[in-house]
Amino acid sequence: MNGHMNSEAEIAIIGGSGVYDAAMLEDAKEVDVDTPFGKPSDAITVGTFEDRRIAFLPRHGKGHRISPSRLNSRANIYALKKLGVSRIISASAVGSLKLELKPLDLVIPDQIFDRTKTRESTFFDEGIVVHIGFADPFCPELSTLLFDLITEKGYNVHNGGTYVCMEGPQFSTRAESKVYQSLGFDIIGMTALPEAKLAREAEMCYSMIATVTDYDVWHEEDVNIETVIQNAMKNEAAVRDIIRSAIPRIPAGQECICGIGLAGAILTPMDKVPIETKRKLELLLKKYA
Ligand SMILES: [Zn+2]
Repeated sequence: MNGHMNSEAEIAIIGGSGVYDAAMLEDAKEVDVDTPFGKPSDAITVGTFEDRRIAFLPRHGKGHRISPSRLNSRANIYALKKLGVSRIISASAVGSLKLELKPLDLVIPDQIFDRTKTRESTFFDEGIVVHIGFADPFCPELSTLLFDLITEKGYNVHNGGTYVCMEGPQFSTRAESKVYQSLGFDIIGMTALPEAKLAREAEMCYSMIATVTDYDVWHEEDVNIETVIQNAMKNEAAVRDIIRSAIPRIPAGQECICGIGLAGAILTPMDKVPIETKRKLELLLKKYA
């Protein structure tokens, strides 16, 4: 049932269309993937780069059509799992909550603070209870690899930081922004969740390259939308460059702790899990059946 697509790709990039370099992949093709949670944001481009199988998923669909609150993240992550992906590099544009995190800087966040409200954020909600560890929401191995590589390449990159994930689509009020800042948070965006949670539940490594476009509104400065767009484009070019260097360095196979996240986390005895749920989540549960 699922088996035929299992090794289409091992590493996935999720980001804006500007993060995908069409010239990068050999034998690129678009695949239309179906999941028990519906369709992902768009067709997924798969192809080969330096002998590695890569998948690219435009998070908001081609043409940036899907608002952060409306993203079907369960379908997005499940579709990548179905293609055989074990590691995800996510790119996300963020606002800065700290003076030292300047526009055009890069951050490899190590924490998330959840301020989302309306999003489906688990695969396990029908007759099965799973409490998975999420104390460290990003893959430590992949995050270290990215930070070291980005440092070597000479970009301004910050190791660690707390990403506040807000619901949006409106930006924060000045009061909210000042509260986040006073709590010591570093960056703010709308897309890290529930992606990171779902990737953990699907036992995939998930790391983020957060790219600072501007200071959030705590910083009393008129933000020029043109500058923000220009910064976003420069950031996307940086991410394309980083991804090309990162892929050959990523170890083949997946031996980090993300690959065994569900071990001990499934509370419901398997013989009590409804057959429909088992069937729906076969891809995630088969190891533990
Ligand atoms: Zn990992």
